[in-house]
Amino acid sequence: MSSPPIFFPRTLAEACEILADYDGQAKVVAGATALSLLMGQKLVDPEGLVSLSRIPDLDRITVADGVLTLGALVKHTEVDRSELVREHAPVLAQSFAVVGNPRIRAAATVGGVLAEADYASDPPAPVVLLDGWVTAVGPHGTREIAATDLFVGFYETSLEPDEVISHLHVPVTDPAAFTSYLKYSSRSAEDRPCVGVAVLVRVDDDGSCADVRVSVGAAAEVPLRLREVEREAIGHRLDEARIARIGQAYADALDPIEDVRGSGWYRTEMTRNLISRALTNARDASARATGAGENKP
Ligand SMILES: Cc1cc2nc3c(=O)[nH]c(=O)nc-3n(C[C@H](O)[C@H](O)[C@H](O)COP(=O)(O)OP(=O)(O)OC[C@H]3O[C@@H](n4cnc5c(N)ncnc54)[C@H](O)[C@@H]3O)c2cc1C
Repeated sequence: MSSPPIFFPRTLAEACEILADYDGQAKVVAGATALSLLMGQKLVDPEGLVSLSRIPDLDRITVADGVLTLGALVKHTEVDRSELVREHAPVLAQSFAVVGNPRIRAAATVGGVLAEADYASDPPAPVVLLDGWVTAVGPHGTREIAATDLFVGFYETSLEPDEVISHLHVPVTDPAAFTSYLKYSSRSAEDRPCVGVAVLVRVDDDGSCADVRVSVGAAAEVPLRLREVEREAIGHRLDEARIARIGQAYADALDPIEDVRGSGWYRTEMTRNLISRALTNARDASARATGAGENKP
């Protein structure tokens, strides 16, 4: 069987034109870490490949007007090592740093991990935590898609087949907030996550919560964030009982995936456990920094 032709457009418009010409039968290729496996296993069989590698400026990381922007071709390693990302969205750097192994991180891209929408991925949960969004370019123009609207199901995004993610954007994290990403892998340290939990906590001087967010990844088809549960915690101390309530709410709302990395029951228990650990750590770190050291139950 012959390999599909590969195109190297110089602009996003040209890339979209080629994708449109193939009427959904061509695939974008970025780092190829996922696509090469899918093609090797004959799970996808594109008639054409559209490489983004010669399109300029998709490998840049910038900050402007309170927003951190990463081009679709920024590699995972570059996210992890970027001073800009570490300063303005540390939880993002943390999650990209624990993907797979160094060889994967050296090739895999920001656009690739988001477009692939594999539920067992690390970066999507922090992107949802930070209220991130992507710019998608298509033959009929450009649109912004909130991360919560991008991930719509099992390996499924809201992108059209002729649309390309050009950038990921996240609001810069409030320097007074503490964030953390906890990954749990059930098979090996380099494996995809069984569950990943991202949290953000900001504690006021009096020890009450000014902001609290929780995003759970890899446990269900799409990342889970319960804004109503988060809102209920604002203005209260993040004591053990409240943390347990938040963990229970997420466990109740989760529609867990069952696979080789864990049963539904196991994923639900790990979700509760990781939320408790991540929120406790973030609360204590936040309290230490603000001097609200009495933020204890
Ligand atoms: C051994 C191994 C271990 C791994 N471990 C982990 C892990 O621990 N955690 C984790 O999160 N992930 C893990 N991964 C997944 C890895 O992160 C993804 O394979 C990678 O992020 C995909 O990026 P890529 O640039 O290689 O995408 P590609 O393989 O090039 O593309 C992936 C999909 O996205 C589409 N696409 C790519 N870029 C764009 C774009 N800009 N716009 C629109 N569509 C696009 C492609 O058409 C394709 O459908 C692992 C993968 C391997 C092979």
